[in-house]
Amino acid sequence: NSPVDPWAEPPEKAEEAALRPGALADFRGQPRVSNQLGLVLEAARARQTTPDHVLLSGPPGLGKTTLAMIIAAEMGAPIRISSGPAIQHAGDLAAILSSLVPGEVFFLDEIHRMSKPTEEMLYLAMEDFRVDVVVGKGPGATAIPIDIPPFTLVGATTRAGLLPGPLRDRFGFTAQLEFYDPADLEDIITRSAGVLGVDLAADTAATIAGRSRGTPRIANRLLRRVRDYAEVNIGSGPVSPASAAAALDLYEVDPLGLDRLDRAVLDAVCVKFGGGPVGLSTLAISVGEEPQTVEEVAEPFLVRLGFLMRTPRGRVATDRAWTHLGLTPPDRSDS
Ligand code: ADP
Repeated sequence: NSPVDPWAEPPEKAEEAALRPGALADFRGQPRVSNQLGLVLEAARARQTTPDHVLLSGPPGLGKTTLAMIIAAEMGAPIRISSGPAIQHAGDLAAILSSLVPGEVFFLDEIHRMSKPTEEMLYLAMEDFRVDVVVGKGPGATAIPIDIPPFTLVGATTRAGLLPGPLRDRFGFTAQLEFYDPADLEDIITRSAGVLGVDLAADTAATIAGRSRGTPRIANRLLRRVRDYAEVNIGSGPVSPASAAAALDLYEVDPLGLDRLDRAVLDAVCVKFGGGPVGLSTLAISVGEEPQTVEEVAEPFLVRLGFLMRTPRGRVATDRAWTHLGLTPPDRSDS
């Protein structure tokens, strides 16, 4: 037996990488974004320039990182990955930018969470491929301009509305990723099952797709849980839709795809706060989560299902939410 390599990536991480489509042609769904992006890349290739900066927005797990990697692969360029919160000081950003190779793709996740000075340095870099590094303090401080190679910034954010206008304006191409249709998720699950060597019966991919909250990352995660369940409980043979449903029930993913956090949020709004309106921070505390997680992970899907409304006064549960929880909606006829 060889000793366990302490530096090896955990198997899920390696699998995660294997499941990522590497070319635009393998990227399922999002037809509008993928056609437009394809054109941007083709034109850049024809002109032999670096493509315009790209801004991708949408909830987590919809394929922003995947698209950034695809842009690099399609351009035959390397990719550098970082995130807004990871770059604390403008100097850190200057160090990254000045070490890029010409044409490199710089993927900046959570770009809305950068500090102001870093953001301002990024403006200049995006526009003029230059950064000004300030040396010294006070009246003696001088800005030393440093040229940086042409690069393509791919920024990702959960909501484009969180970005300051001047930053948004510096992207040549912006795309809003939407939740995926069940048919596209089914395709993704079928492809992933092939990669992972999981044998799915007809309609099983559809069962998993239906519970995937419109999100490829969740689809892949649920597929792995179904695989675990099948290996332990079924043995050989294709996994039936009934087994997949049983597996997902076990992991508390309901037939609409709501997980424990989604249900906790709905339950809090309906039961603890009488249907709302309730403010985000109060709601987050009552379910024991960060406001950001509630707002960016749970809420977009609940809003899309028509279970939750975001109003200026706070979050409000709809009648559908009450019914889904098996509760009777309050009588609002007098209000
Ligand atoms: P984000 O950066 O938006 O949070 P990722 O790009 O990391 O999301 O995608 C999460 C996972 O979902 C990836 O591992 C990838 O395998 C899968 N995925 C995302 N979009 C697609 C797609 N369009 N087709 C196939 N798989 C996808």
